Amino acid sequence: MVVQKFGGTSVADPDAIRRLIEIVRTARTRDGAGPAVVVSAMSKVTDTLLGIGAAAGDGRLDDALTQIDALRGRRVKAARDLAPAEDALVDAINAELDNLVAVVRALAVLREVSPRTLDVIAAMGELLSSRIVAAALTAAGVAAQWVDARQAIVTDGEHTRATPLARETDEALARHVRPAIDAGLVPVVGGFVGATRDGHTTTLGRGGSDYSGALVGAGVGASEIQIWTDVDGMLTADPRVISGAKLVPHLSFDEAAELAYFGAKVLHPSTILPAVERNIPVRILNSRKPDGRGTIITAQGAPSDTLLTALACKPDVTVVDITSSRMLMAYGFLRRVFEVFERYRTAVDVVTTSEVSVSVTVDDTRSLDAIVLALSEFASVSIEPEMALLCAVGDRLRNEPAIAARAVGVFEEVPLRMISQAASRRNITVILRQADLPHAMERLHEEFFA
Ligand code: ADP
Ligand code: ASP
Ligand code: MG
Repeated sequence: MVVQKFGGTSVADPDAIRRLIEIVRTARTRDGAGPAVVVSAMSKVTDTLLGIGAAAGDGRLDDALTQIDALRGRRVKAARDLAPAEDALVDAINAELDNLVAVVRALAVLREVSPRTLDVIAAMGELLSSRIVAAALTAAGVAAQWVDARQAIVTDGEHTRATPLARETDEALARHVRPAIDAGLVPVVGGFVGATRDGHTTTLGRGGSDYSGALVGAGVGASEIQIWTDVDGMLTADPRVISGAKLVPHLSFDEAAELAYFGAKVLHPSTILPAVERNIPVRILNSRKPDGRGTIITAQGAPSDTLLTALACKPDVTVVDITSSRMLMAYGFLRRVFEVFERYRTAVDVVTTSEVSVSVTVDDTRSLDAIVLALSEFASVSIEPEMALLCAVGDRLRNEPAIAARAVGVFEEVPLRMISQAASRRNITVILRQADLPHAMERLHEEFFA
């Protein structure tokens, strides 16, 4: 039995959901059981919901209510189109959105949105899409059961970027998802959403439905975790930057994790973890071309005939330079530096050091002012925004030193701000000016994948 996760564009409208139904039906016929289905919010809905939260917090109540009306109209239309006999579905959609209206009215009075409230609002997208998909499957003759993600995924209380609790989530999945499968039904769970042990709604961070898919896959012991999306699989580069990006047929877990972490949005960076723990292959597939082979990600990967496997990039990176001629060589300095980032819960992506300075990159700048202030207590600090990270990934980098030399050589004319190769030696990462990214990416792609 497989777990199938469908992203925003794969549930965007009734036509997309009809394609989903056929994909689910095919898997069910092939395997004789399941699949378990995890769905994102319909495309752009999460952005809209976060906008509604912001509008309410600013006291722009009419704006927020107008947007909720538009959401309601589209959801109800999709529900009537896909499951015309299901009055209970329309009632459920209306009840959820009435609840949202109540929340938004309260926020507009308070003029304040906490991360906890934002999660209640953001979760609405997946809660609605999963209800609609479950009803649509059943109406199409694939008996399905809606599962409330707030009961199936248990997380810590770090709102807007919660971390699932492994044991509790496994138990919850055994209680809420497994019985549906055993009863011959297709469980449908909203991705991205969970709840704390005491029942507060949480979300797993943007793009987190992939992570939910992998958690469900690990929890129910799936034979494969399928990520259905709007591209043919993992490509050799972000297709929005490189138009000629090609399909990568086979990746190792390690390569996929590096690519996802360094910007290949097609996979949420945490997705690989549950798969690695249970050694479950992950396959990325295009829901518009269900017969494609996609990309298969396994523990071993496969010997690649290209020198590199793929490139990833992250724009909007900020470099923080921390300089202290007196302190750097003293032990304890790096600890103090990283304690500051830890205190402000800000992840550091790339680190390089020299005799007198440490440079780090961050892409979450929400606490940057406070971080700079805290670092300034014991070092001089400067920041450089509008930088980008470009990362070349491939298992062959480990044993063939000429590949790294050739990769860096491509940047002859591009000023590099940082260069890093970590112990895994599976990637070479450079930091450059954002303005130089498209050209640099193009050059690197041409060199290795043309
Ligand atoms: P979904 O809504 O299905 O989760 P996402 O938008 O999160 O889809 O991820 C798919 C998108 O990821 C693609 O449309 C593509 O623009 C982008 N992407 C970035 N890097 C890559 C890559 N290396 N391979 C494939 N897609 C990539
Ligand atoms: N709907 C969420 C988002 O847009 C989660 C996801 O689609 O994976 O970030
Ligand atoms: Mg995604």
